[in-house]
Amino acid sequence: MPFEYDDQNIFAKILRGEIPNDTVLETEHSLAFRDIRPQAPIHVLVIPRGRYVSFDHFAQEASEAEIVDFVRAVGEVCRMAGVEADGFRLIANAGKHGVQDVPHLHVHILAGRSLGRMLS
Ligand code: IMP
Repeated sequence: MPFEYDDQNIFAKILRGEIPNDTVLETEHSLAFRDIRPQAPIHVLVIPRGRYVSFDHFAQEASEAEIVDFVRAVGEVCRMAGVEADGFRLIANAGKHGVQDVPHLHVHILAGRSLGRMLS
């Protein structure tokens, strides 16, 4: 099934500069900014600048340069979060069952408190 990207999603508007954001890191192909409704003391979202709906879309269609840039950006935010806190968690929701609200790939980076066990 082809991936359909909605140019009106809120992260597309952030990337176009139509909506402000609290930027943490900018790279050639990625942007990291603080979540507007933080679920932990540190809650940062990392997004690719490209038009990708979800992680699987990105993995299938992004260039190697975009993938390397994105993974490095996530790693850099984790490093920054890890300096301040005892570890972190990465989450990438996708689709209806993943309860993804914004249809532009984003990785949540949560840190700064014990996040509890997700899987047991
Ligand atoms: P999802 O459920 O994984 O799609 O999460 C979307 C996230 O985007 C939620 O944690 C929201 O709080 C966050 N969010 C929505 N709008 C904005 C915004 O304008 N700036 C920063 N974060 C946002």
